[in-house]
This record gives sequence, structure tokens and C-alpha cells, in this order.
Amino acid sequence: MAEQEEMCSVCGEVLDPDNTSRCSFCGGKFHMKWSVKVEMKECGRFVMNEQFCTVMFMCNTCAARMPSQQGPQQEPPQETW
Ligand SMILES: [Zn+2]
Ligand SMILES: [Zn+2]
Repeated sequence: MAEQEEMCSVCGEVLDPDNTSRCSFCGGKFHMKWSVKVEMKECGRFVMNEQFCTVMFMCNTCAARMPSQQGPQQEPPQETW
């Protein structure tokens, strides 16, 4: 009896346990490669939260739901003298 295989919450295909991340937003697991040597598709990406200096993961499903793909453009106003 094989182990229960987990499915990607984005594409629905079987996950590689070594190259999997859990989405910080929906909690679903998705394909993400952890080695540059691995040739595989990715179903999500890293998201840098500069405000809290943390790295989060976002699956493509959540990325598509986000209103801005560019990230918040909230730079502090330039002080001009
Ligand atoms: Zn996938
Ligand atoms: Zn997600």
C-alpha cells in the first residue's frame, strides 16, 4: 500500500514531497521547486513581505485573486528641500 499522494491545490496533479510549498494565504499545497537542478513547473511563488521582513508563499490561485500582481506601491513620499 503506497503512501497517500497529495495533490497540488493549483493544478491538481500529484505533488513531489521534496518540492512542495504550502500557500500562506489559502493553506493549500502546491508545486514549488527547492533546487535549481530540478526541472519542474511551479504553481506558485515567493512573496516578500517587506513590512514584516518575512517570506511567504503564494499559490497561483491566490496570486490570480490578488488585485495587484506588482505588490503594494507604497513608497514613502520623497522629501524635497
Ligand atoms: Zn501544481
Ligand atoms: Zn493559495
